[in-house]
Amino acid sequence: MLRFIDCHCHISAGDFDKDIDGVIENSKKAGLLALLAVAEHAAEFDKIIALSQRFPGFIFPCLGVHPVQAVSPEQSRAASVQDLDAALPIIEKYKDQLVAIGEVGLDFTPRFISNECDKESQRQVLIRQAHIAKELDLPLNVHSRSAGRPTIHLLKEQGVDKALLHAFDGKPSVAMEGVKAGYFFSIPPSIIRSEQKQKLVKQLPLENICLETDSPALGPEKQVRNEPKNISISAEYISKIKGVSVEKVMEVTTQNALRLFPKLQLAIRP
Ligand SMILES: [Zn+2]
Repeated sequence: MLRFIDCHCHISAGDFDKDIDGVIENSKKAGLLALLAVAEHAAEFDKIIALSQRFPGFIFPCLGVHPVQAVSPEQSRAASVQDLDAALPIIEKYKDQLVAIGEVGLDFTPRFISNECDKESQRQVLIRQAHIAKELDLPLNVHSRSAGRPTIHLLKEQGVDKALLHAFDGKPSVAMEGVKAGYFFSIPPSIIRSEQKQKLVKQLPLENICLETDSPALGPEKQVRNEPKNISISAEYISKIKGVSVEKVMEVTTQNALRLFPKLQLAIRP
């Protein structure tokens, strides 16, 4: 029996509005047991909660403020504490339903960052969300881009002990610092076209690897909508690199996800 967990996807994205039922049905056929729906900003929180209620026991909500906030389809900026202030009452309202706080993190991609203030603002937003996660006893679902080392260092400094680093783009040696801290790393289907992710998986112990799709992004083909059903592409590629069966990758990554997100254990029975 197939049983995967997609630890990070954006199922609330407008890309899925037209055919969400088909997308969910296909992901179940592909062996998905559960899907973690992460948020990027407060305006989509209600939609994520509504989706988790429409697909109970299958879509699990994570709410958080992403380090990069869209101003328009063409323009983005660093997250600010004001963005977080708008999000906090909604997080508080739904806290009992959440399986994690996310998507949170640091993104130092040059086009999103104009100065040191932007980086500091992202750090403050992440630090506050790390504290909220601790208070609620929830793990963090973490984004890091061009900021692998600062992200892992900040999490460790803040005493975070439960974190998923999604689509980590840093060096394997930096990832290994996260492994020492007990963090998990989720691998998207884009691994088939990313030498960096292949190198990362070579280094990471299977015991610290989870699966994700980051749908609609990070699919096997660039510019093509990614879907949760593609989760097996990650599992197959990891199995090749690690020289173990796909079943083994599935079993270990699913157990890892259940350990990291204990609320899933109560809701699904693998
Ligand atoms: Zn994401």
